[in-house]
Amino acid sequence: MKCMYCQGEMERGTAPFHIDRKSYHLMLDTIPAWVCAQCGEVYFDEAEADTIQQIIRAVDEKTEKMSVSV
Ligand SMILES: [Zn+2]
Repeated sequence: MKCMYCQGEMERGTAPFHIDRKSYHLMLDTIPAWVCAQCGEVYFDEAEADTIQQIIRAVDEKTEKMSVSV
C-alpha cells in the first residue's frame, strides 16, 4: 500500500483519533491504522472507520439522553 500524498510506504501501526462534538470531546489513543513512513499520513481501514462511527453514534445517543433540557 502506497501513500496517496507522497507515494511513501504505508506501515501498519496505530494512530490517535479525536473528534470535538457539541457536548463531548472524544479522544481515542491507539486505533489500528496505516501510517505513512515518509509523511506520517494516516489511513484507517473500513473496519476501524466503521467502529469509530459506531462509537460516535453510541456516545451521541447516550449523551442526548443524559442532557437536561432547559
Ligand atoms: Zn506519505
